[in-house]
This record gives sequence, structure tokens and C-alpha cells, in this order.
Amino acid sequence: MTYNVDEKGYYGSFGGAYIPEMLYPNVEELRQQYLKIIEEDSFQEEFNELLSDYVGRPTPLYFAKRLSEKYGAKIFLKREDLNHTGAHKVNNTIGQILLAKRLGKQKIIAETGAGQHGVATATVCALMGMECIVYMGALDMERQQPNVERMRILGTKVVPAHSGNKTLKDATNEAMRHWINHPVDTHYIIGSVVGPHPYPDMVARFQSVISEEMKAQLLEKTGGEDPDYIIACVGGGSNAAGAFYHYLDKKDVKLIAVEAAGKGVDTDESAATTALGNPGVLHGSKTLLMQTEDGQVIEPYSISAGLDYPGIGPVHAHLFESGRAHFYSATDSEAMEAGLLLSKLEGIIPAIESAHALAGLEFIEFKSDDVVVLNLSGRGDKDLGTYIKWGGY
Ligand SMILES: *Cc1c(COP(=O)(O)O)cnc(C)c1O
Repeated sequence: MTYNVDEKGYYGSFGGAYIPEMLYPNVEELRQQYLKIIEEDSFQEEFNELLSDYVGRPTPLYFAKRLSEKYGAKIFLKREDLNHTGAHKVNNTIGQILLAKRLGKQKIIAETGAGQHGVATATVCALMGMECIVYMGALDMERQQPNVERMRILGTKVVPAHSGNKTLKDATNEAMRHWINHPVDTHYIIGSVVGPHPYPDMVARFQSVISEEMKAQLLEKTGGEDPDYIIACVGGGSNAAGAFYHYLDKKDVKLIAVEAAGKGVDTDESAATTALGNPGVLHGSKTLLMQTEDGQVIEPYSISAGLDYPGIGPVHAHLFESGRAHFYSATDSEAMEAGLLLSKLEGIIPAIESAHALAGLEFIEFKSDDVVVLNLSGRGDKDLGTYIKWGGY
């Protein structure tokens, strides 16, 4: 059994490309070209040079001594929070914009919910001098004003979506419509391991630099490449996919995914897809999603904007169903406490998304010589307002 994608874009029974006829030419062009382009030496050279000189990779693997003492294991933090723009998302947007250039595209579109993916996309478009439009729900634009202004400063046009709930789903619909009308000159940058094949695999490959670096860093620091545990938070699942990627077939490495339980999985304010969801089609792929009995997508809730997504990428649906990865969910308050704890113990204020992964440390019984890598997906600067409102520090 393999846990990675097959040539049709399936992870077990999940994945594929469930798209309207009108989008077929765009997605098919990408499917035919992506592997060929990504594997070219010149692509790899440019990608790696930008990851090193622009993003600041490799990110450190930091042995968190005080956190380790607290949990009774050897805990390392993979410091994705130290990337340019403050999170792992830029690994993917750099990869996709280089791909778009090689496909001869002149324009980039994206959709964004909280604005983090929009900012990572606007950043690489400025870097490459490419025209960029980001679709964003009108309500999200009000709630995330600083990110809207960041994108504008970077030269991106932010277009409000006024339909539906005026949130992520509506922005996605607008972006799809734009792409259908501009198939030749435009590339659509999706921000997580979601969407129709080949997006989940493409994004996972760009993020796989995380586990590639981990292997070398662990070898140097512990004498072996394989940790006992890898822990990551899951919204769509891109930082987790990158952290798990090179370990998927190493059964001794336990893969731990932490979703956002919101106010609790027994309330109707949650985003814990594996606990509450079932199979269906979301954003072009077959996966697990939170839906009503007649298939309406349920609006998710989490204190963390980046985990507030009603599904998970098909790779994670498969890892869950096959039992290869263990899924937990952390509530808002468990995550906030874990974020404040890391701040006090290690002098690192994490993104609230990453704080959910930290809350996962509470759920596991470690042995004292266990080596644990926790993927610290982002930094907490963007979340200062939420920390202040929460209080308790
Ligand atoms: C967007 C985001 C996430 C969630 O996205 P994934 O695709 O699940 O990784 C997690 N952490 C941070 C810091 C983010 O910005």
C-alpha cells in the first residue's frame, strides 16, 4: 500500500479531479506539464535558490529544551515560522509561480479566506513582476483589513466576492469563474493540498522541502533520520503534508495530525473534519468534508482563521481512513493555552494554527527517549489581537 498519489490523482479512494467541463483544459494542461517542469534541473535550481536566499531556508530544527522537560520527550521544533512572510505558505507560492512562468502565463489569480495565502501569493507576484488578482469574500475583507492592505501594498488587486456568505467559498467560486474565462494567460495558485488533481500532489511536493530538511537535520542532531513522532496542524493540510512527505512509507514514524475542534466537536462550532465529516466532493476532489445530510457544506468554525476549512486534502482523508496517521482535534482554549505555554517556555509566540499542533502534545503519552518533531507552521505576529482578546497571560 502506498500513501502517496497514483497517476490518476487518487490517494486510495480519495482525490481525483471533479471539475466542470469548462475547467478541463486548464487543469489538464497543468496535469500534463507539472511533473515534467518540476523535475527539470533549471526549475530545481531556481526554486532552491529562492528558497534559500529569499525565503531564508533551511529553517532551523530547534531542540526545545524547556518544552521537552515539560512533556518528557525530546521535542524539536521545525521553525517554519522563520520563513519570509512568517509561515510555510510561501514554499508553495514560490513553486507555483515558477511553474506558471514556465507555462507561459502572465497573470496569477488566487482566492483567500483569512488573507494568509493571498499575502503569500501577492509576495511572489511582486517578486516576479506578475499581475495578480486575489478574490476574497467581502465579509472576510472587513475582518482581515491588515492583510487586504498588505496585498495592496505588494501591488495586488483584491476583488471582493459579494455572493453567498461573502467568505472563502464565494471567493473560490469567483476565482474559478475568472479562470474559466482566461484559460490561456492565467494560472490559479491554490494554497493548500486541496482542489482537483494535480494540485494536492503539486502543493505537497513544494512543501516536501520541510521533511527533506528534517531528515538531514535529525541525522546531524540525533544520529538518525527518523523521529518517533511528527506532529502538525491540519487546515487543508499543506504544512502537515510537507512535514509527513518523506516519512509516509516509514511505518515506525508516527504521524500525528491535529485539527481545530473550535468550541468542541459536540457543538456546531467546529472544524474537526475527521471527527465530523464524511466522504463527498469539495473544491474539485473527493475527500472528507463536513456536510449536512443532503450534502450542503457546513460552515466551519475555529479561533484560528487558517484552520477554519470544512474539509481536508485527499491525502489526509486517506491517511485517516487507512490509519497511517492519527488525528486529534484541539479546542480553541486548548490551542490558546498551548500557544501561551510555548511563549513562556521558549520565547516563541506561535501562530494560533501552530498552537493547535502544540496542544497535540497533551494528548500523547511519550517515552523519555522519544524524538518528536513538531512542525511550527507560522509565527504569531498576525494573531496578536486574538491573544490580547483571549488574555490569561
Ligand atoms: C494557512 C496556515 C495553516 C493551515 O494550512 P495548511 O494547508 O493546513 O498547512 C497552518 N498554519 C499557518 C501558520 C497558516 O498560515
